[in-house]
Amino acid sequence: MDRSSPLGRRFARGLLYAAALAGGALLAHVTGPANKPSQPASPAHADIRLAQALAAPLSLGPQPAGASERVAAALPEALALDAPNAPGQLPTRSSADYRDGLIIDGTTSHRLILFSFDDGPDERTTPLLLDRLDAVGVKAVFFLVASRIAGNGARERVQAELAKEIVARGHLIGSHTVDHQQLPLLSDEDALEQVAGAEAIFQRVVGFRPSLFRPPGGARSGRIDELLVSRHYTTVLWNLSAGDPQVRSAQDVFDTFVRVLERRERENGERGGVLLLHDTHAWTVDAFQLIWAELWARNCRLLAQGEELYDVVSDLSFFYQPRGAAPAGFIAAPAEPDAAVLAERQARLRAEARTRCNASDGF
Ligand SMILES: [Zn+2]
Repeated sequence: MDRSSPLGRRFARGLLYAAALAGGALLAHVTGPANKPSQPASPAHADIRLAQALAAPLSLGPQPAGASERVAAALPEALALDAPNAPGQLPTRSSADYRDGLIIDGTTSHRLILFSFDDGPDERTTPLLLDRLDAVGVKAVFFLVASRIAGNGARERVQAELAKEIVARGHLIGSHTVDHQQLPLLSDEDALEQVAGAEAIFQRVVGFRPSLFRPPGGARSGRIDELLVSRHYTTVLWNLSAGDPQVRSAQDVFDTFVRVLERRERENGERGGVLLLHDTHAWTVDAFQLIWAELWARNCRLLAQGEELYDVVSDLSFFYQPRGAAPAGFIAAPAEPDAAVLAERQARLRAEARTRCNASDGF
């Protein structure tokens, strides 16, 4: 297929869109029937079939239970979880709040958006993103690849400082393994090394080990879920993505985000969620600006219509119900956030929107 031809471009965009949509479909597929009866993809949609085809190599089926726990038990005690009040550190939030052994898939019926950035930090792109997040007061979750901040290379040293900077600016960090391996493809020992090895690096570099985890490629299995629970992680998936690793322009990232957002709402009633992006791409850092502007442009229309506004949040608890007595490792039910909290946040947003939307210089 010639990607420069109109048909080729359309095909390429279809692939990109399918990959972006694959978040939920892929995860449900890899996970199998274990956890929740998530919305199955309609076979009527060719792009969903494509998404499933893309996901197929990751489907490893059920694994024997308990193997990872045996390996984990042979290890020394888990390193201290988030201890963010060490001298010289400024974070105000701790991912230890979410240490519940749950799997959060990010779905919500409210217009709540949480930005998450995977695969960094990257010395070329993360600093500008941090400034842009600060400029609009957004706190995000960064799932860091630990090998990027380990070692004595010039780049790794700069990126280690960036990891500290991410924490110091009030963002949450989570583990994205040592070097981005798809865990279900690894032996018990190697999977454990990816998880525990990252903990040791985080402990050394930022002074604590995160309790949030995002599996590379969204690849999971029962065996890996068990391993993560045994290491006291909460797994954070996503329901919104923009295909940013597959493209080369901010506009393509933005267009895909809008299509995915609208489709999730149309088909699943999900009006917001956890958005997966990658701070390792310059076009993603630019796309953040477009997405932010779009959310506020929509808010101006929604304000006039008296509808719920988009609310960019930093708190994962908006997206899942606490575990309660349920066993660890299950996909959490979507949260129905406290009505008074939502009303108060919406009131503040409406006040802000009244000012912003009358401004002549836009955003
Ligand atoms: Zn990744």
